[in-house]
Amino acid sequence: MSTAFRSHDHWQDKAACRSPQVTVLFYPPYSPEPKSERIARESYAKAICKGCTVSDECLKYALDIDEPHGIWGGKTELERKKLKLTQAIR
Ligand code: SF4
Repeated sequence: MSTAFRSHDHWQDKAACRSPQVTVLFYPPYSPEPKSERIARESYAKAICKGCTVSDECLKYALDIDEPHGIWGGKTELERKKLKLTQAIR
């Protein structure tokens, strides 16, 4: 998740993925990524999200802005698209 344009005392201040060393897990590399590496990277990122105290806020934010990249609130971009479609159908 991006930490740009944060206001004071924002939910992003409590993000479990704030460290640059951790953030790389949440986005694909610039070079082609083998499927097995993508699955492993996404699993690590999702495990971090599971322990994050602001995952609900994070997912809501990503859905609200139609964030097209990365893992937010424990969901990949494809999972967020499916979630939005499901919500639109209901
Ligand atoms: S839910 Fe995941 S992506 Fe969102 S702030 Fe927490 S650790 Fe980061």
